[in-house]
Amino acid sequence: DTYLNPNYSFDNFIEGDCNRLARSAGFAVAQRPGLTSFNPLMMYGGVGLGKTHLVQAIGNYIMNHFDNKMVLYVSSEKFTNQFINSIKNNTLQEFTDFYMKVDVLAIDDVQFLSGKEKTQDTFFHIFNHLHQLGKQIIMTSDRPPRELQGLQDRLLSRFKWGLTADLQTPDFETRIAIIQKKIQSEGISIDYDVIEYIAHSVNSNVRELEGVIVSLMAQASLTRREIDVELAKNTLRNIVMNEHKEVTIDTIQEIVADYFQVSIADLKSKSRKKEVVYPRQLAMFLAKEYTDLPLKSIGYHFGGRDHSTVIHSIQSVNLLMDETPDVEETLQKLRSYFK
Ligand code: ADP
Ligand code: MG
Repeated sequence: DTYLNPNYSFDNFIEGDCNRLARSAGFAVAQRPGLTSFNPLMMYGGVGLGKTHLVQAIGNYIMNHFDNKMVLYVSSEKFTNQFINSIKNNTLQEFTDFYMKVDVLAIDDVQFLSGKEKTQDTFFHIFNHLHQLGKQIIMTSDRPPRELQGLQDRLLSRFKWGLTADLQTPDFETRIAIIQKKIQSEGISIDYDVIEYIAHSVNSNVRELEGVIVSLMAQASLTRREIDVELAKNTLRNIVMNEHKEVTIDTIQEIVADYFQVSIADLKSKSRKKEVVYPRQLAMFLAKEYTDLPLKSIGYHFGGRDHSTVIHSIQSVNLLMDETPDVEETLQKLRSYFK
C-alpha cells in the first residue's frame, strides 16, 4: 500500500512504557519533519506492536498540519515490486524521480529488503538524495538494525544516523488501556473484570489483543449472550485451542458446535431441528473447504450420512449465501477461529 490509512492517529495510539520513546520521537518528527535530529527515525519491534500504526500516525499528522508537504507511505514489499516493475517497463527514472520528490518518506518493514541488492541500491540513492535535502525519512523493521542480515552495510550505517527506538510488548496497564480504548471505539461497554481477565490472559501483542476482543464481540452477538468472564474464557479457549492446529473435521465440528451452542452429538444426530440443521450444513461446507476428505468420508463423520447428503448440504449453504449476506459473514467468523 502506498496510501495512508486515516484511522491511524496519535489520538488512538495508547502510550505506555513499552512504546514511550518511539511514540515521543514519532510525535517530534511529526511536528517538525526533517528538522529534528531524528532523521532517519527507525522504529523496530515484533509483529503487532504498533509499528505500522505509529508510522502512519506520523504521516497523517503531517498531512493534517502542513499544506505543502508530500508524504509517502509505502511497505517495503510494495517498494520492491514497484522497483521490479519499473525495470521491466523501462521506467526506472520515473520511479526514482517519484520517490525523490517527496518531503516525507515512510517505509514500512525494511527487513523485506533483505537480500534484494538492486532494490537496496536504488533505495540507497533515494535515501541519500532525500536526506541531503533535509527530507524526513521514517522506517520500521521487525528487528534492530544490527540483526538485519542481508542489508548492505552502507544502508545499515545510515539507519544509525538518526534515532532508533524500539517497541516492546505492552505491559499489563497498557493492555488494560488498549482494551478500554478498543471497546470504547466499538461503542460497547464491558465490565472491568472481563477487561482485566483479557489483559491477564493475552500478553503477546496488540493485534492479538484486538483479535480476542473482536472474537468476543462476535461470540456475544451470535450467541446473544452478555460479555462476561465466562464467555471470555470460552472465546480464549477456542482461540488458544486452535492456534497451532491443522484444521481437521473434529476441529470444525468443535468450533461450529461451540459457536452455535449445540453439541457435537447434535451435529452427528438425525435431528431435523432448525437450530441443528443449519450448523450441521455449515460444518459440512467447511469440512469440504478445509479438508481433503472425500464426500463419503465427510458424511461418515456426520453420523454416517451418505455423500449425497453432503452434496445437498453444500448446495443449501451456497443457496443461502445468495439469499442472505449473514451466511458469508458467519462463515468468515468461523474461519477466523481456525487460524
Ligand atoms: P505492527 O506494524 O508492529 O505489526 P500494527 O501497527 O499493525 O503492528 O498494530 C497492530 C494493531 O494493534 C493495529 O490495529 C494497531 O492499531 C493496534 N495497536 C498497536 N499498538 C497500539 C497502541 N499502543 N495503542 C492502540 N492500538 C495499538
Ligand atoms: Mg506493520
